[in-house]
Parts: sequence; structure tokens; C-alpha cells
Amino acid sequence: MAARIIDGKTLAAQVKARVRDGVEDCKRQGVEPCLAVLLVGDDPASAVYVRGKARDCEECGIRSLVERLPADTTQEALLVRLAQLAADDSVHGILVQLPLPAHIDERAVIKAIPPEKDVDGFTPVNVGRMMIGETCFLPCTPAGCMEMLDAAGVDPAGKRAVVIGRSNIVGKPAAMLLLARNATVTICHSRTKNLAKICAEADILVAAVGRPKFVTVDMIKPGAAVIDVGINRDENGKLCGDVDFAAAAEKAGCITPVPGGVGLMTRAMLMVNTLQAARNTL
Ligand code: NDP
Repeated sequence: MAARIIDGKTLAAQVKARVRDGVEDCKRQGVEPCLAVLLVGDDPASAVYVRGKARDCEECGIRSLVERLPADTTQEALLVRLAQLAADDSVHGILVQLPLPAHIDERAVIKAIPPEKDVDGFTPVNVGRMMIGETCFLPCTPAGCMEMLDAAGVDPAGKRAVVIGRSNIVGKPAAMLLLARNATVTICHSRTKNLAKICAEADILVAAVGRPKFVTVDMIKPGAAVIDVGINRDENGKLCGDVDFAAAAEKAGCITPVPGGVGLMTRAMLMVNTLQAARNTL
């Protein structure tokens, strides 16, 4: 039986429509939500992401401030600009597009974002709050994954969940959010033994590896919910995820496509967080 496709496009449109209503409401109360995005250097993929974020803001009625800084911007100069944005009451969310040029210490820069404007959910304060279950800004990609499971009617409670990947922005927080929803969670990574066997036991499988077709059909339990976070190019240069989609879709219960899946929800969740940051100032 073919899997249900969890359509990121439709879902993201629904989330953004809700944000748009919230933004209107915020404006009626005298606050215009505003997201500042800093892009350092001229990495083409980052430029595409930043343009996408500005478009989403426009769609949601959020004011967007995109600042492009040259690749040779010093860390000090970047920190000075961040301090100005941090002090600016008209700016509610601050996002520094990653990756940064090699001469800049990413962690130091992230720490300079005040937690109440950290709409990416990357600062140690927000990460810590998430770990202990306090209200915080959730990182957008894992939050988007959870929305997709909810939309598919998959309740993680009591289920066996396997996350492949342990990065700070995807794998680890995805595992934490699944745990918070009472899944029994296993995190796999490059040193995991018997990875295929572990994955094949998963009721919920989240792939955040960064390798095309890494998850093959034998690694999928019949009826499993498969969330494909990967954004890769296949041998023909075509965009694809970490999962061998065509084969997996014959065996899974539900599955997210790439493109048209988690990526769109990640963008929508940034809008949710930005609206929340603005609401918190009301
Ligand atoms: P990272 O490179 O930071 O992490 C990849 C993880 O995969 C690591 O934990 C690594 O293990 C693990 N891994 C790599 N190779 C293997 C292997 N052979 N077997 C088992 N585990 C392996 O990537 P990100 O987490 O940042 O991103 C993952 C993917 O998701 C990428 O394709 C990225 O483009 C995409 N992405 C998509 C987003 C979206 O909006 N849809 C947002 C962010 C990322 P180890 O730790 O041991 O090295």
C-alpha cells in the first residue's frame, strides 16, 4: 500500500495563513512584527535561503530587514551590529544566516543574540529551556517535523522513534522534541553500529544525514512515519532528500517529500517564532 504524502506546501500555507492573522492582530495592537536577517558573505545557497525568508515575511505581513555584509566583515563588526539590533525595540527577531565565513566564531555570534529575539532557537538559553521543557523558541526544522507528524495524525507517545543525525540544529533537538512527546527515542550517527536494523524498528524515522538516498527501503518498518529532513542533490543534480523516496513510499505509512516537505515547514516555523517574539512584547 502506498504511503500518505505529508504535503509541506499545503501545511506551510496553512501555518503562514495563521501567522498572517496573528500579525494583523499584533499590528492592531500597535506592534509591527519585524525580522532582521544578517547575511555575511556571498554563499549562493545562503542567499537563496535569505531571499526565501524575506518572501515569507512579505506573505505574512512581517517587516523584514535583510542586511548583507561583506565576506571580510570582522567578528567584532558583526557583534557590534548584533548589539544594535538587540537594543532596537522595533526588531523582534534576529537571525544570522549560517554558515558564517571561517574567520568568524559561530558560537560567539549566536550567543550575542538575545534569547527573546532568537527566533532560530539556537542560543544556549533557548536550547537549555527546550531540554527542560520550558517555554522557548523551538528550532524551526525540528519544530516543523513535529507539525508534520501532528498533521499526519501520528502521536509519538509510546512509539519507537529513531533520528539519524545528531547536529545541534536538527538531529539533537528533533530527538528532544520527540522525547518530550513521550516517544522512546534512539539517536543514530556515523559511529552507530547496526544502523539499518535500528531504523527498521522505528515507528517514526527522522532522517537528517545529508546524504542522498541514505535511507533505503529495507531500513523502513512497514507503516512507519518517515520524516526526511535532508536536502541534497542526486547524481543528476536534482534536489532530493536522505530517503530513497520512491521505494520508501511503497512501504511507509506516511512520508514527507523533498522538495515540498520539511524545508517549507522550516520556513513557516520561522514566521511562527517571529510572530511570537513580537507578541511577547505586547
Ligand atoms: P550535519 O552534517 O551537521 O549532521 C549530519 C549528521 O548525520 C551527523 O550527526 C552525522 O554523524 C550523521 N551522519 C553522517 N553520515 C552518516 C552515516 N554514514 N551514518 C550515520 N550517520 C551519519 O547536518 P545537518 O544536521 O545540519 O543537516 C542534515 C541534512 O538536513 C542536510 O542534508 C541538510 O541540508 C538538511 N537540512 C535541512 C533543513 C530543512 O529545512 N529541511 C534544515 C537544516 C538542514 P556524526 O555526528 O557522527 O558526524
